[in-house]
Amino acid sequence: MNMKSKIKRRILAIVLATLLTTAIVVSAFGISQTLKQPTKPLSALQTTAQNYGTIKLDCNYSEDSHSLAVKQTTTYINHSTQTLYDVKFHLYGNAYREKAVFPAVAPTEVDRAYPNGFDAGYAKTTTPKIYVGGDDKTLITVPLAVGLEPGEKIDLDLQYTVKLANIKHRLGYTDNAVNLGNFYAIPVVYDNGWQTYDYNYNGDPFYNEPYNFDVTLTAPAGYQIATSGTEIEPHHYVGYLLRDFAMVMSRDFKTLSRQVGDTTVTYYYLNDEIPDISLYTACNALAYFSNTFIDYPYSTLSVVQTDFLQGGMEYGALVYISLDVTDQLQYQGVIVHEIAHQWWYGLVGNNQIRTPWIDEGLAEYCTAVFFETHPQYGKTLDSIATQNQNSIAMFENIMDEYKVRYTRQMLKRADEYRMPTEYTINTYARGMLLFYAITEKVGYENLNQALAHYATTYCYKFATTNTLTRALEDELGYDLVNFMNNYLAGRQDSVL
Ligand SMILES: [Zn+2]
Repeated sequence: MNMKSKIKRRILAIVLATLLTTAIVVSAFGISQTLKQPTKPLSALQTTAQNYGTIKLDCNYSEDSHSLAVKQTTTYINHSTQTLYDVKFHLYGNAYREKAVFPAVAPTEVDRAYPNGFDAGYAKTTTPKIYVGGDDKTLITVPLAVGLEPGEKIDLDLQYTVKLANIKHRLGYTDNAVNLGNFYAIPVVYDNGWQTYDYNYNGDPFYNEPYNFDVTLTAPAGYQIATSGTEIEPHHYVGYLLRDFAMVMSRDFKTLSRQVGDTTVTYYYLNDEIPDISLYTACNALAYFSNTFIDYPYSTLSVVQTDFLQGGMEYGALVYISLDVTDQLQYQGVIVHEIAHQWWYGLVGNNQIRTPWIDEGLAEYCTAVFFETHPQYGKTLDSIATQNQNSIAMFENIMDEYKVRYTRQMLKRADEYRMPTEYTINTYARGMLLFYAITEKVGYENLNQALAHYATTYCYKFATTNTLTRALEDELGYDLVNFMNNYLAGRQDSVL
């Protein structure tokens, strides 16, 4: 082990411990909040969904080979102003292959990620007349015989097999569960050219448009299956306007469900001594964010405890919560953070590679506001802000001590950060503190109202740093441009 990796591990351990330090016993909670019933006209969702493409997936899982055979039909709509002569897809199965140029996990996390040592996964297409490119063969190009004019749609067929690695990650299997995140061919965003990005172990390297999904899954008997969709017949799921469709399978899931308005929240868990509390946290978060921002539009939300390297992961109408999070209050915080992503990343999209600070900063800020407004958890907006300030100070002190360069710049691409901790500090901690700084001027209630306006304006669309700034300015009546520019450029002592 070299010194650099030792330092990284030490910093990671200290920063994570500080970011996630919790000491309050969850069993003391008295969750008695009355859930306001959000109104959620499904027909409105379906009406809006007609303007978006559809992905039909016919999946067959082989337990013996740990592989998923998929037939995919994508109804692709040209939303651009240009004629398109090909359509591109990301197929991330190959990010897990041996000697990947952009490996799925950071070198320092390999031991933790692979429970039985490194194991390769891959994806192989059997579709004629397509091109597979990218450094790790994660990019599919489907040439079109005739140019697709703006507004036109086309059905494109793909067939492929995804071999899962034995890894605690988005896509992989363990003794406990089979994680099927980012398993299908995901249409690349076209915005003045195809916005292709390699997989990267920093952050969530995705930039997805909403799609409608129609998914069938054939799997061996005995599996319980959590998905992003609603089951309309056995193993047949549909979902509207989701940025991702994920599934998790396990033979060992226990489940608890509760209704919040028109949404059925189901908690799939493997090892949780207080599953009622975890489900209530999820329901409270869903109700609070629905009432505060815009209604959660889907009829299901699956909260899934599974093997996962990081704390959690957000997908459309489904979140992973890691089995490795053993501190009970920290676990509840991960549930709230991932559910906050249903608004920030999910309903309001952003380029998670170019501007990860937007969705992570908002998810962290909203988690803090959730705790502020739910005193039974014993945390406040101020206490979480202080925790983040301390984490940053500790990170910078250690980096200074070892003369390791770091940046306070928050507008870096996720893959430009030199180490995962720097990424975490700048997107999560500094991101949360940016919104906290605004609350110090206007109060969190006013910022929440401005975020409701932002959510309404950009629902099912993409926001950027500029459009977020303008949406907040519209509602708050403050000139935020200078403040935001300074803060994001690394001058975090700038005041509003
Ligand atoms: Zn997050």
